Amino acid sequence: MLELKNLAKELGFNPIAGGAFIGEHSFATEDIPIANGRPDRQDVEMAMEFGAKIRAKVAALSSQDAHTDLEIPGRFPYESGGAGPMKVAPVTNEDTCTVCGTCASVCPTAAISINGSVATDIPLCIRCCACVKNCPTGARVWEDSKMKEIANWLNEKCRARKELQLFGIGL
Ligand code: SF4
Ligand code: SF4
Repeated sequence: MLELKNLAKELGFNPIAGGAFIGEHSFATEDIPIANGRPDRQDVEMAMEFGAKIRAKVAALSSQDAHTDLEIPGRFPYESGGAGPMKVAPVTNEDTCTVCGTCASVCPTAAISINGSVATDIPLCIRCCACVKNCPTGARVWEDSKMKEIANWLNEKCRARKELQLFGIGL
């Protein structure tokens, strides 16, 4: 969020508020939940209140406030992006796949093509799991052991409910 704020400022914006909201993790499943069901009703109500307060803050801004610096926690220089792409993707269980094409239609990077069966262009996969979560027959799954390890680790770390964090505006 610090990087996002700095980028917005570089582009001439004046950030006045920020929020870290909770959403179900893409690796989450029913068996390995990671913030499943989030955002929930309480999150949405808080987001709406946050939005209303931002609107009021903007309406009350004067020209003297134009360069107010919003404090966002974070590290600078930013951390590096890690070890690079994992080059793995979900696989298709041909016994249960009906070749309906849903996975291809929800894939945001067009990594999936359907031509009698499902083919995945692995380097294009960003591991968003949209194909896994939207497959109507459960045929699209992860078999990669590292992915399962990461999901289990996240499940362990994120077991306790976490609340959203807001900056620049309190509720
Ligand atoms: S969504 Fe599932 S059933 Fe449909 S084509 Fe993709 S893998 Fe097969
Ligand atoms: S995980 Fe996401 S990016 Fe990868 S194949 Fe499925 S829908 Fe496409």
